[in-house]
Amino acid sequence: MRTPIIAGNWKMNKNPKETTEFVNAVKDQLPESSKVESVIGAPAVDLQALLDAAKGTNLKVAAENCYFEDEGAFTGETSPKVLSEMGVDYVIIGHSERRQYFGETDEDINKKAKAVFANNMLPIICCGETLDQREAGQTNEWVSGQITNALKGLSADQVASLVIAYEPIWAIGTGKTASSDQAQEVVHVLRETVAKLYDQTTASKVRIQYGGSVKPANVKELMSKEDIDGGLVGGASMVPESFLELVNFNA
Ligand code: PEP
Repeated sequence: MRTPIIAGNWKMNKNPKETTEFVNAVKDQLPESSKVESVIGAPAVDLQALLDAAKGTNLKVAAENCYFEDEGAFTGETSPKVLSEMGVDYVIIGHSERRQYFGETDEDINKKAKAVFANNMLPIICCGETLDQREAGQTNEWVSGQITNALKGLSADQVASLVIAYEPIWAIGTGKTASSDQAQEVVHVLRETVAKLYDQTTASKVRIQYGGSVKPANVKELMSKEDIDGGLVGGASMVPESFLELVNFNA
């Protein structure tokens, strides 16, 4: 059975002090990692504070991005090697904001996924369609293409261990959630894509999250869907009480 994974994505919010305060407020009420994995994705400048505060708790740590080279003349980039040395568990890659504002391509995302694995971390690979694409009936083909490109050259074992996040762009930070049926439909298409590219066993192991205005009020309904294994959550992950309600959705 797949362990649900609820991951916060703080984007470019919070400083180290606020990060420590957040972890101290949630750390004793997190579910067992074997029941639900609780993850916070924080800005690179907050990661050390997050790691220090999360040590010995059930909270796992994600970076929100990294580069695909380990070191070198890449001013301003974040090394996956150093993230791994610091103790980071996951790296969110290909978030729509990275694609939209920083020009990340499917090829970059594929290279980043490989770099994350090479450094013994796991990627959370994001995909999602715009409202225009949804209205034009292109959603399934588009997200399936994004994931096919992201997974190129990865082994079945690697794919079985990573996380895919389906995040319709029109639902991110807008308060508009995809209905649980809409989310389930696309997440199922993504699982079928993995089955076609690899095999049924790999597809049955890979965890696929939904993201886009997930909040305490809708998490249960989304999580009740067969193929949805968790959430990637922006706004509602920023407040301790609401993050706790999300990760304890099945308590
Ligand atoms: C996100 O940051 O990936 C996200 C889904 O944000 P929100 O939950 O605020 O829509």
